[in-house]
Amino acid sequence: MKLETKLIHAGAEPDPSTGAIMTPIYQTSTYVQESPGVHKGYEYARTQNPTRHSLQLALATVENGKFGLCFSSGSAAADAVITLLNPGDEIIAANDMYGGTYRLFTKIFVKYGLKFHFINMQDANEVSKYINKNTKLIWTETPTNPMMNITDIAAVAAIAKKNHVLLCVDNTFASPYLQSPLDFGADIVLHSATKYIGGHSDSVHGCLIMNDESLNDQLAFIQNSCGAVPGPQDCFLILRGLKTLHVRMQRHCENGEKIAHWLRNNPKVDKVYWCGFEDHPNHEIAKKQMRGFGGMMSFTLKDDSIEAAKKVLSSTKLFALAESLGGVESLIGHPATMTHASIPKEERMKNGLVDSLMRLSVGIEDADDLIADLDRAIG
Ligand SMILES: *Cc1c(COP(=O)(O)O)cnc(C)c1O
Repeated sequence: MKLETKLIHAGAEPDPSTGAIMTPIYQTSTYVQESPGVHKGYEYARTQNPTRHSLQLALATVENGKFGLCFSSGSAAADAVITLLNPGDEIIAANDMYGGTYRLFTKIFVKYGLKFHFINMQDANEVSKYINKNTKLIWTETPTNPMMNITDIAAVAAIAKKNHVLLCVDNTFASPYLQSPLDFGADIVLHSATKYIGGHSDSVHGCLIMNDESLNDQLAFIQNSCGAVPGPQDCFLILRGLKTLHVRMQRHCENGEKIAHWLRNNPKVDKVYWCGFEDHPNHEIAKKQMRGFGGMMSFTLKDDSIEAAKKVLSSTKLFALAESLGGVESLIGHPATMTHASIPKEERMKNGLVDSLMRLSVGIEDADDLIADLDRAIG
């Protein structure tokens, strides 16, 4: 079955009690048992909920995985993965990733005796250099936020397999429509479903997808024990969002391509970071592992003052100045003070994340209207 069909039908059985085509929002905390231990598979809503169950099945299917687990946010999903580890374990992570993940690793987990190596994952060979007997997990995000760098998933997965280390790929930027990390050998796929999967900026949600049953059992144990589960209404919204992911992503890609080229041809613009450009340093790998290049990009102006960037950030009208990404509406953001403020400036600068860098999440409005909006703001 093709992805477009899976997105609409996966996990969706008519509701057994009424035939409702959409899985209802099972807004309940508990389930009545016939006699002790005799029940319909549902005991308590932290552990199981039918709305969440449908969504977990759907997410697993669209990521070409066997198991899906939902969490109250993408960060809660990341927290669950790291909770698999023990003090003394080491993690090799990309040095260019979502600021909140970096904060979770360095401000929360370092104090539990975990050791993180933040490295440049654009070169898979770098990863091997940091592997030792304590290494348990490799963590990458591709494309990265906000520099749009690419990790070669198959190459890093091969290193992970050889060394019996888990590989977790944050697939938030690509979405299951553009990239299937499990097919390239990743062990766990993570999404902030808050972004493209939900797609309507109305819910915060996260998920993990995997093929290995014992890994799923361990993570389901953590999901239930730590309790960072999403409510049924959020699961319903994400399930609804998922059904239109393919049509939204097609438009995000078309608009993204037009805007990336327009920016590149604008004399006031200096650098444009978008992995669809043929001269993007990792374009060949992006082409190999992605089915399109999406609507996320970053850019700087020739005038690299923070004032010039601030003027653009506060004068777009269609591109709303806001954190987050992946919704139907276009957003503009300033990583240095918004999404990546929790990364120290020296660390940010190492990756080219300068104070004047602006990030666009290109929505699915009319491309010409979006270009006119940027044109006015860049002046
Ligand atoms: C937003 C985001 C997260 C965190 O997800 P939340 O749902 O906000 O907790 C993780 N990774 C990436 C790439 C993100 O963009």
